[in-house]
Parts: sequence; C-alpha cells; structure tokens
Amino acid sequence: MQGLMQDWPLTCNRIIDHAAVQFGGHKVITRSVEGPIVETTYRGIRQRALKVAQRLVKEGIKSGDRVGTLAWNTARHLESWYGILGAGAVYHTVNPRLFPEQIVYIVNHAEDRLMLADLTFVPMLEQIADKLPTIERYVILTDGKHMPATKLKNAVAYEDWIAEVDGDFSWVKVDENDAAGMCYTSGTTGRPKGVVYSHRSNMLQAFATAMPDVFSISSNDVILPVVPLFHANSWSLAFSAPMNGASLVMPGAKLDGASTYELLDTYKVTATAGVPTVWLALLDHMEKHDLKLPHLKLAFIGGSACPRSMIEKFQDKYNVLVRHAWGMTEMSPVGTAGHLKPHVAKFEREKRLDVQEKQGFSLFGVEMKITDDNGNELPWDGKTFGRLKVRGGTVARSYFKGEGGEILDAEGFFDTGDVATIDEHGYMKITDRSKDVIKSGGEWISSIEIENIAVGHPDVAEAAVIGVSHPKWDERPLLIVVPKKDKKIGKTEMLEFLRGKIAKWWMPDDVIFVNEIPHTATGKILKTALREQFRSYRLPSAAE
Ligand code: ADP
Repeated sequence: MQGLMQDWPLTCNRIIDHAAVQFGGHKVITRSVEGPIVETTYRGIRQRALKVAQRLVKEGIKSGDRVGTLAWNTARHLESWYGILGAGAVYHTVNPRLFPEQIVYIVNHAEDRLMLADLTFVPMLEQIADKLPTIERYVILTDGKHMPATKLKNAVAYEDWIAEVDGDFSWVKVDENDAAGMCYTSGTTGRPKGVVYSHRSNMLQAFATAMPDVFSISSNDVILPVVPLFHANSWSLAFSAPMNGASLVMPGAKLDGASTYELLDTYKVTATAGVPTVWLALLDHMEKHDLKLPHLKLAFIGGSACPRSMIEKFQDKYNVLVRHAWGMTEMSPVGTAGHLKPHVAKFEREKRLDVQEKQGFSLFGVEMKITDDNGNELPWDGKTFGRLKVRGGTVARSYFKGEGGEILDAEGFFDTGDVATIDEHGYMKITDRSKDVIKSGGEWISSIEIENIAVGHPDVAEAAVIGVSHPKWDERPLLIVVPKKDKKIGKTEMLEFLRGKIAKWWMPDDVIFVNEIPHTATGKILKTALREQFRSYRLPSAAE
C-alpha cells in the first residue's frame, strides 16, 4: 500500500522561493569585489536569480549544461547558483586557488559552456582562455561601470547581461534527482575528480546540517560563511541559510583577520564557518587589538583538524562555542559535527575538550563505519584506528564521467581515505589521511594528533608531521615547525612541550624549523610536497 501524500520534488529552487515568501526582507550583506558593502534581501536574490535563469535559457543553456563560477562569496555568486540550477543547469564552482593548469583541466573536463567570474579573476582567465574551448561566453560579475576592457570571448558585465531580460519567468522543471551542482576534489593525489550533487542531495544536506546538533540554523541567526562557495559546496550554507531564513554576511575577497572582524562586529553575526587557518588570523587580530565579539555564539570549524588551543581560546576568552565538523566534497560535504550529547556535556572540562577535539558524530542521513584493510568492521572503542567509510543520501556514488571507477564497497560504503577512531559515544576522530599515517614498527602514529599539540605552543604558527623512512622502524615521525613571526624555538624545547602529551613512541625523532609549509588550494597542509621536500632527509636516529 502506498502512502497518500503529495509528491513534492526536493528541488533547490524551492529553498529560495520559501526564503522569499517567509523571510523576504532578511538581508544578504556583501563586501563587494568593487569595494563598498552592499545589501540585498532574499526577495532580491530570488528576483535576480529568476533573471539569471531566464538569461541563461535565452543564451541557449539547456538542462544539464554546466555553468562555471569563479567567484568569492557575494550576493551575485549566490543568486547565480540559484539562477543556474533554476534554469535546469548545473553550477560548477571552480576553486580560484587551484593552479591555472588544474583549472584548465577541470573546466574542460566539466565542459562548462559559460563562465561567471569575478573581476579578480579576469587576468588569470585571460592567460588560460585559449585552452578553454568549451566556454562560449564570459560573464563578469560586475556592472558596466566597472567592466574592464578584455578580450575574453563574448565578455559582458553581469548587470548588463541580466538587464536584457525582465525576470518574468518560471523555474525550469527538473527532477529532484537531476544534477544541480558540481565541485571537483582538489586532487592532491591524481587528477581532480568531479562530484555531482543532485537537487535532492543538496536539499537533504541542508535539512541535516541546519539541525540544532549540527549548525543549529534559525531565522534569528546572522551567518558569515568564511568558507567559500567554491569550497566543498559551501558546507551547504548557500542552501541551509535561506531555507531557515538566517541572514547572510558575505565577505567577498577579503578574508584577513581585520576584515572578517569588521563584518562580524558591524553586522552582529551570530554564527560563522570556516577552516582553522582563517580563525588563526581572526584570533590574532582580536588579541592584538583587545577586541571582543559579544554577538557571536557559534564557530563551525572544519576542513582540517581544529586544534584544542583554538577551541579553548574561542570558548574561554571569547565565549564562542566551537563546533568541530568533518566532511568532504564527496559528502555534500558535512558528515559529522561535534555537539556535546547531554551525558558527554557533564564530563569534567578536560574530558569535554577531548570530545570537542574529535570531529563529532554522524549527522542524520550519514552512516559510518571503520574497517581494517580487508574490510572487516572494527570496534567503536575510541582506540582502534581504521579506514573510515560512509553511506547515505548525501554521499557520492561515483565521480563525473566514471573517473576512478567503482568507488563503493559491497555494502555501498564509500572509503573516505581518512583513518579514524570512533568511541563508544559515537564520536569520530580523524587520525590521518590514509596516505599520511606514519607506520612505525607495524603500528600507526597519528600525524594530526602531534600537529594539534605542537600548534598549542605559544610561539608556533604551524606544524606538520610526516613519516620519514627508518631502517629499523620502517618510518618515524619528523616534526616540521613554522615559528610565529620574530619567535625562536629550540628543538629540545619543542620536544619537551610534547613530552607527556603523546605516547613515548610517538615522539618525533627530529624537529626542523622552516619559514613556510606548502598548502593545497583549500588551505590544507600539502603533505605530498613536504614528503618530497624531505625525501633525502636522514633522521639522526637512523644512523644509530
Ligand atoms: P579539499 O581537499 O578540496 O579540501 P575536501 O574538503 O573534500 O577537499 O577535503 C576533505 C578532507 O579534509 C577529509 O577527507 C579530511 O581528510 C579532511 N578534513 C575535513 N575536515 C576535517 C577535520 N575537521 N579534521 C581533520 N581533517 C578534516
């Protein structure tokens, strides 16, 4: 017997429709790429998204066509997403921090027909445009007044382009399982691979991430997404915020501590989200100038491990709750978040922090397990490391054009490439990427754990731990440290700082101080490059 309820396809255009009806006056504030801070509302975003959709159809864009965006977090970028998916097409966010050759590869692979780009990226596009044959037109996200002279194919200012239509348009009809968006993995190993989100998966992720134990989004909130729309589907904020009527403050191109602080403070932002490095800059700025953020309640931190010292500083000094989260492009992207369940909240302070340092428990719609290399499930005891695998309606089942082949195991689980423990309370802790774990004497050492403790040293700006080959132990950890500006730290001091905080056999065999550590386009430590850099390095212990 079938249920007798209506069929109401979960298509993303419904999100912006709802926002316009129920929260039409709620603001979307942007630090524009041109400079000034500008304001619109969800009603305004919807009206202009309809124009974008109408204009795309006039341009000949058909259902399923990919439209690239190369843009910062701004209202124009947001309305472009809704316009693109509202035309039945697929937004393809391109990460401008990738190397130009990688951008060429993914735009060609996705076969983007149009590119909507911020002013910032015009010079870079001019350099590579002759290698992008599928792009028929470049729409520059600005007005006629700021439009630069450019030879980019059929270049037009966005405002002029959408002014050619009147917005009297209905969203193109799509199925909830049709593609809505696309984002490529960053390809730190191998070629970037395209992840294709459906309307339904985006909608499910928006429902799941907005819940109280995850991002806890309501119409009372003002959210500043520092995480870019081009990074892992904006952690769903482009959908979850309008779905729940939270106002948005879009930071544009300026993500330094002072600029972020100015927006957080001026617009009484209640919640924000981003990777740990942006918070380092913000906290640094606030400490230097003795500033506070009385309205900010929640910082959602993920993308790489959030150090304990950062959690403590936000919570103790600034009264901002940190919720550590984990996910990946292939997961829409959020998989776990670190709300404290009631019995865990009763733990004493240090044990509570231990839990907050973990990446949290799976959200509704995501099943997770850890297995050994043969696929056997491992216990949830908080100690046993295993390959982290996930399954659910917001997890990829394959990559675009079948790249990478079959990616699910016999039970339909996707191997995340992360190594993790899960404790008896359900909290998952990432110990490493599987290719970064350090194998010492047949046991695994977690590089992330050592890094997190090392950055707790007041004079350390950044730290990375890699495995270096060792004749007796196979690999041993090498700690690479970037000291804070004008600070000097000794090797012995650094090792003493770690002693007692990690198992003895996890202690790095050596410490090296450098001025800089290489990063990926999404701000993660580029371990492949570090391992390459230290390939011929011999540990002093190797000579013993
Ligand atoms: P990119 O490499 O483009 O940043 P993703 O955002 O998809 O791509 O990266 C996902 C990976 O980032 C995860 O598989 C995991 O290794 C790492 N990651 C994400 N969040 C965390 C976190 N909170 N702690 C540790 N690692 C994390």
